Amino acid sequence: MAKQYDIVIIGAGPAGLAAGLYGGRAKMNTLIIEKEKDGGQIVITSEIENYPGSIEEESGVTLIERMAKQADKFGCDKVYDTVEEVDFSGDLKVVKCKKETYEAKAVIIAAGASPRKIGCPGEAEFTGKGVSYCATCDAAFFEDFEVYVVGGGDAAVEEAMYLTKFARKVHQVVRRDVLRAAASIQEKAFANPKLDFMWNSSIVEITGDGLVNHMVVKNNKTGELTEINADEEDGMFGIFVFIGYDPATKLFEGKVDMEKGYIKTDDQMRTNVPGVYAAGDCRVKELRQVVTAAADGAIAAWQAARYIDDLNAPKAEPVQEVKKEKKEMLEVDKNTFEEEVLKADGYVLVDYFGDGCVPCAALMPHVHEIADKYGDQMKFCSLNTTKARRLAIGQKVLGLPTITIYKDGAKVEELVKEDATAEAVLAMVEKYVTKK
Ligand SMILES: Cc1cc2nc3c(=O)[nH]c(=O)nc-3n(C[C@H](O)[C@H](O)[C@H](O)COP(=O)(O)OP(=O)(O)OC[C@H]3O[C@@H](n4cnc5c(N)ncnc54)[C@H](O)[C@@H]3O)c2cc1C
Repeated sequence: MAKQYDIVIIGAGPAGLAAGLYGGRAKMNTLIIEKEKDGGQIVITSEIENYPGSIEEESGVTLIERMAKQADKFGCDKVYDTVEEVDFSGDLKVVKCKKETYEAKAVIIAAGASPRKIGCPGEAEFTGKGVSYCATCDAAFFEDFEVYVVGGGDAAVEEAMYLTKFARKVHQVVRRDVLRAAASIQEKAFANPKLDFMWNSSIVEITGDGLVNHMVVKNNKTGELTEINADEEDGMFGIFVFIGYDPATKLFEGKVDMEKGYIKTDDQMRTNVPGVYAAGDCRVKELRQVVTAAADGAIAAWQAARYIDDLNAPKAEPVQEVKKEKKEMLEVDKNTFEEEVLKADGYVLVDYFGDGCVPCAALMPHVHEIADKYGDQMKFCSLNTTKARRLAIGQKVLGLPTITIYKDGAKVEELVKEDATAEAVLAMVEKYVTKK
């Protein structure tokens, strides 16, 4: 039987977390479903200057940690699962995820947006192996290396400047011969001695030997192709892509009214379907920011609570979370890695994580669950790459989280970043053990 809630919120970005806080505080039995990590887009930015109350030293990660704690404090539940299908036709809305199906009296769509890809050969293959969409997550891997940043808008230029704190040199690859970033940001960028600009340029191919070490750049005016190779001593370079976002609304097509891929709402976040609301970047609006996403979430949850009160339906029984006792995984470091992993007999899984890496933190409990199940057939280890950066690079791990299976010291299979979902890790492990 499907688990029942008053309000189901799709997405744990600023809009979803604010909705969760307001839903919980209104004593609604509220669930947030998040497919990846808490925080959505904002966790990939290093500094937020324009969220009211954030004056200095505020990163996307720190702001989101507080938002998530606050929603949790008011009793809002959260699961990490991907919504794959929705049915809004009845009074009880159905939200089907990869692992579970939920029913709710009201649904708030806060699915936001996701980074747009360059779309060139090699981009997908080398994601997490030199190609990144998140400077905050991956900048440290490129300390003293060269980095190329794709894009010319606010986010691209700000992230390029952030990367100059780590990289030896940052080259901004700009499609046209001007930046789209605000004048004040441009001024800072042009004054930065570690940042230079490749105008009228697009990356058309990315290749490498395990890690990115070569790419082809096209001059958009002349059509000329230039090969760029990693410095011989470095053996690799980084490519950070910041070229905009696409709304994550495909699965709502035909279910609610939309305009150019964005969900239409009134100023109370109501869609055309009673009991279904949309909040944040996924809806039609002018200003897409954390503060407007959070405001949308608050309004949507408040409206959903009023709608449920009006339905006058008996409240669903709160779902009891079954707390599983987690079996400890072996945390290895640069001193023990060789003995515990490379010299170990049989299969060893290593969960490479990093300090402040929200996706790593979200994945880790799932890996513990898999370790609980198959710990008798495979050794499960974790390695903090923040403390063992050189070791991680030596193992060709450049994106987090990375889950690698070794056999007798050699890598046999690996899942990196977005590919490292709980289901994919379980499926990978079950190839090498006797399935239970
Ligand atoms: C590089 C960068 C810098 C930025 N800097 C600033 C800034 O300084 N100040 C500012 O105010 N704004 C900034 N923004 C904009 C801000 O991040 C967004 O406006 C805000 O995050 C939108 O919040 P949201 O909750 O609507 O969506 P998102 O943040 O996109 O969150 C949506 C969430 O929904 C989840 N989701 C999507 N589909 C599903 C599904 N099917 N099942 C389950 N979960 C799903 C996603 O995984 C995601 O976590 C920046 C954006 C970027 C990219």
